[in-house]
Amino acid sequence: MSAHEADKTCPECGSEDTVRIVYGFPGTEMIEAAERGEIALGGCVISPMGGDSDRRCRVCDWEWTVEWG
Ligand SMILES: [Zn+2]
Repeated sequence: MSAHEADKTCPECGSEDTVRIVYGFPGTEMIEAAERGEIALGGCVISPMGGDSDRRCRVCDWEWTVEWG
């Protein structure tokens, strides 16, 4: 398993049925993609706590942060 594939795997339940969480004001394309279950909308407010999750499991709704780069 590559690191990229590991990023897609839910650390809680092991499912690969996960989507990227997209932050920012969603445009029409983003809303449609979210309705198709291709992405998850994180909203337009960035958490003051930092460390926003950027991956969500569609099986158990677990959210986690993938270290990019
Ligand atoms: Zn899960």
